[in-house]
Amino acid sequence: MNASLERMLHEIQVETADSSAWTGISAIEPAVIDALRQTDRGAFVGDDYRHLAYANRPLPVGFGQTISQPFIVALMTQLLLPRPDATMLEIGTGSCYQAAVLARLVKRVVSIEIIAALAERATKQIAKLAIDNVDIHHGDGYRGWPELAPYDGIIVTACATEIPPPLIEQLKPGARMVIPVGAAYGPQDLLVVEKSLAGVTSSRSVLPVAFVPFKRSADDPALA
Ligand code: SAH
Repeated sequence: MNASLERMLHEIQVETADSSAWTGISAIEPAVIDALRQTDRGAFVGDDYRHLAYANRPLPVGFGQTISQPFIVALMTQLLLPRPDATMLEIGTGSCYQAAVLARLVKRVVSIEIIAALAERATKQIAKLAIDNVDIHHGDGYRGWPELAPYDGIIVTACATEIPPPLIEQLKPGARMVIPVGAAYGPQDLLVVEKSLAGVTSSRSVLPVAFVPFKRSADDPALA
């Protein structure tokens, strides 16, 4: 047993209980906890931060980006209602930790990253870890990934100022999107967006959060 990892999982449950008045979730489910236990966060952070890999904290992963706090990864994973036959879309690959956790619970994860060097590093990392059900693509996730749409769930791990309409289009009726929406470095809400079987979309806020901003390739030629 890895004591630091078990402490991280314990801290996730404590924070989940502490924030249940916001989220309505009092505990992270065993399947999600197992996915976290089996995904070594240490493999997704650089050497400088490896000693902090099991801290319940976000950590820098280079290029001004961060690996999310483990509690947030657990919460977002559970909010997506992952099922073994699901194909999920993630926007914001970053270190690929979130995608690797989710990939243990679903059939396939398609993950889009706007920073080419991060997409490349993550692609190498999942190959090294022999994870074969995560597809990483470099691009602007605002457009989603129409090739495999519609998705059984969409997770966005950078904070957008609005819900990108192409992502709503690419969500299957009856499915959910989990996305932080708000101001860059300002107030942000983690939203659960649900598309009804009739195709009607509604959303609710589950928690105030702090994510790095959602970038657009149109705003920065270096990202195109
Ligand atoms: N899920 C990541 C955390 C990512 S941080 C993990 O587990 O490590 C957010 C990531 O979103 C950053 O890598 C950032 O480059 C990326 N990003 C920001 N805007 C994007 C966009 N429009 N399309 C795709 N990725 C984007």
